[in-house]
Amino acid sequence: MTTLKLYSSLTRSKDVFTPIAATDVRMYVCGPTVYDRAHIGNARPVIVFDLLYRLLRHVYGPEAVTYVRNITDVDDKINARAAERGVSIRQLTDDTARAFHEDVAELGCLRPTHEPRATEFICRGEDELDMVKLVERLIERGHAYEAEGHVLFDVSSMPAYGRLAHRSLDEMQAGARVEVAPYKKGAMDFVLWKPSSEAEPGWDSPWGRGRPGWHLECSAMSAALLGEVFDIHGGGIDLIFPHHENEIAQSTCCFGRDRMANVWMHNGFLQVEGEKMSKSVGNFVTIREVLADWPGDVARLAMLTAHYRQPINWTIKGLQEAEKTLGQWFDAAAGEADPRPAPGVVEALADDLNTPKMIAEIHRLRAEGGRKALAGTLGFLGFRPDAFADWRAAHAPEAALPLAEIERLIEDRIAARRERNFAEADRIRDELLASGIVLKDGAGGTSWEVAR
Ligand code: AMP
Ligand code: ZN
Repeated sequence: MTTLKLYSSLTRSKDVFTPIAATDVRMYVCGPTVYDRAHIGNARPVIVFDLLYRLLRHVYGPEAVTYVRNITDVDDKINARAAERGVSIRQLTDDTARAFHEDVAELGCLRPTHEPRATEFICRGEDELDMVKLVERLIERGHAYEAEGHVLFDVSSMPAYGRLAHRSLDEMQAGARVEVAPYKKGAMDFVLWKPSSEAEPGWDSPWGRGRPGWHLECSAMSAALLGEVFDIHGGGIDLIFPHHENEIAQSTCCFGRDRMANVWMHNGFLQVEGEKMSKSVGNFVTIREVLADWPGDVARLAMLTAHYRQPINWTIKGLQEAEKTLGQWFDAAAGEADPRPAPGVVEALADDLNTPKMIAEIHRLRAEGGRKALAGTLGFLGFRPDAFADWRAAHAPEAALPLAEIERLIEDRIAARRERNFAEADRIRDELLASGIVLKDGAGGTSWEVAR
């Protein structure tokens, strides 16, 4: 079996990955808050963890892997946006979730095994784990307290708080610039439950009508669907603190375990001119806008050119290069696709998703003429030749000459060269160029493309 190595933010090292059970490999990734169209920065974790999901399925078998990515459908941004648009919260979150699914499907991402919606895990049946029960248990165990309709997690009750962020509580408290609500015992205590006004969505609870804090939902949904301790937890690097630190606090203290997940993986930022792409800065392009100009495969490959832990700059040049590369790969991939990806590509990915190495391996495969292996590998990686070909056909500039005429002239030129009549060969090349057809002589013969 392939040995997988993954970098964990918890240990800050790349270690051999050993699943809790090789027949039941479990991964949780924090998903979108569905109030608005996702931007291409939000697509980074989706694509990165899709690739990991594909790799895990390859190594352990498709049946052995469970991938959960939640949908956050309770959030103050959602309430505000629904009010602004004059639509119901359910309408807004349904529409946005549907758009998200369309977007990421076009980026070649598989649907996770489960996509729980937060609102479905607030109050459930008597025997089912939900957010309210989690809060109750935390209070019982002395890790949370009620204050003015709120329930807060008491970080001083947890010696290991700050382990993921690699900061001590004292350091964090000293650096805390947040305005501290009067009902908090400690500056770093965070909200598990908060009261809702009549106008706000709310659920009945022992602490009155209210709604959960953001961190709580992932602790509840991951435990309900994957168990108290699972293998891999992922998300963007901005989630390490406070979101993931707080998830760990809630889950470990609630279940009395020493950990929530074994491996914590975080993707770096997608940037625009050196700055994180984000809604608040306003420097974002939506996935939809990118897909209006480019096929999903091109965006997917552009995203994978940098290693997932490194920042990546999103540029038109990067997309153009990805398009050229994919064109070369698809042109060279032919015949019945191999059912398995090339071992060199799997090996590169098994090394903490080394996608630059993966790309070099694919180039090598192409150079070696492994047409079926190339087709199988591209399919495994989530690239789809048909969608790409459709896009090309729709976007390629029209050739000014009929195809048969271009081919006749190329044949004539080959004949001229064979007779060492280079003047005639050059004349034909220039004649084609005048019509915007560029010839390329390679080892495999002469190909042509329309000059752009
Ligand atoms: P948000 O909607 O901000 O909660 O983000 C959803 C997911 O996208 C989280 O995993 C974030 O870490 C991730 N994310 C947001 N912006 C970026 C970015 N510019 N680059 C990479 N990941 C991002
Ligand atoms: Zn989360």
